Amino acid sequence: MPKTPESTIIKDGTIITQDANRRIFRGDVLIIGNKIEAVGESISEPAEHKIDAKGDFVLPGLINIHTHAPMSILRGYGDDMTLETWLNNRIWPAEAKFNSEIIRAGTDLALLEMIASGTTAFNDMYFFEDEIAEQTEKAGLRGFLAEAIIDLGSAEKAKEKLAKCESFVKKWKGNELIEPVISPHGAYTCTPETLVKSAELSEKYRLLLHTHCSETRSEVYDVQKRFGARPVEHLEKCGIIGPKTTLAHCGWITKAEVKTISKAGATLAHCPVSNMKLATGGYAPLPEMFDAGGNVGLGTDGAASNNTLDMFETMKFCALLFKHHRWDPTILPAQKVLDLATIGGAKAMRRPDLGSIEPGKTADIIIVDGKRPNLVPAYHPVSNLVYAAKGADVKTTICNGKILMENREFKTLNFEKVLEKARKTAEIFAKIS
Ligand SMILES: [Zn+2]
Repeated sequence: MPKTPESTIIKDGTIITQDANRRIFRGDVLIIGNKIEAVGESISEPAEHKIDAKGDFVLPGLINIHTHAPMSILRGYGDDMTLETWLNNRIWPAEAKFNSEIIRAGTDLALLEMIASGTTAFNDMYFFEDEIAEQTEKAGLRGFLAEAIIDLGSAEKAKEKLAKCESFVKKWKGNELIEPVISPHGAYTCTPETLVKSAELSEKYRLLLHTHCSETRSEVYDVQKRFGARPVEHLEKCGIIGPKTTLAHCGWITKAEVKTISKAGATLAHCPVSNMKLATGGYAPLPEMFDAGGNVGLGTDGAASNNTLDMFETMKFCALLFKHHRWDPTILPAQKVLDLATIGGAKAMRRPDLGSIEPGKTADIIIVDGKRPNLVPAYHPVSNLVYAAKGADVKTTICNGKILMENREFKTLNFEKVLEKARKTAEIFAKIS
């Protein structure tokens, strides 16, 4: 791995600060160690490394708050199917084959795509999370990672999964880049006892919680039938919903549930691309969440149901979904959507040091190429970033002060090797059908 410079100066870019006043100006950003030392129109202090950002957009790294990284290996493995067929005939048989090596191959592919498309932090739940954490740390990205807890009604399985989750927590707690998270998979895949124990683990170690909630209508009916309450109420009774919680999807929640989530200070992870591709029908009521003062962030979900981890695409889909559905182009402006992918994500992860470019904050920064045809002219940089930019327009990605990609050259991952390994691994799955 090449030595990272101790200090880096980004010169002459259009800086989209995402600070309290949402200031945008042409200037420089000085990074020392893992912190942003200074932001200004012209910084003259010397730095070990200089990045010329003339004509480019400099913004906080995007935060993806709902992923399953290794599923990138199943990108395009099953499309255009009902959710049940997709799970029964494609995803579950494939996942049954997963081992450490496959997980590493899928995770590296996901990490490569995230670095390439400007995501600097992600909130992940899956299995073999130790391997995911190791690969993430090596790649230099910021991971909020959880060994998923799923029991499907079996007390034995619950015990095993909770123990595994706790040992993951003990191993990674205190790591600079990896923050362990407690993730019961969902109200329909965990018993109430397991949900209660998950909440206790989160309390014991003071960790974030991350779970699926009301993704599909059938999930809502199922939970209601089995436990006499809709998922939000059920999760709340089990102690899962609080200020440290991220609820993925929430496509089928009522106005009363919006209030419950917002009042509790929990975050809704909106995953518009995955929801639309799987045709879940419902979508998270974001305008109502905003009215209730609730926090919202954006997620891609796994690449098996998206089929990318491109947060730029997710921002655009998010904006268009609400404009179209509510017959109101003013309902979700570009600035608000960019807020969800930066500040909203930082708030969800309870990391006020992330999500904006300000002195003293942690240096998670990306640079978008302003010389791409689709990004010219730039009357409103934020409009360009939300409505016109693609992940592929990102040219430089910095996480925790370290340059992970510069001018599209990867510094921590071997691009060729990761792709080759992913192609080879995919051969295993091509044989199952
Ligand atoms: Zn998910």
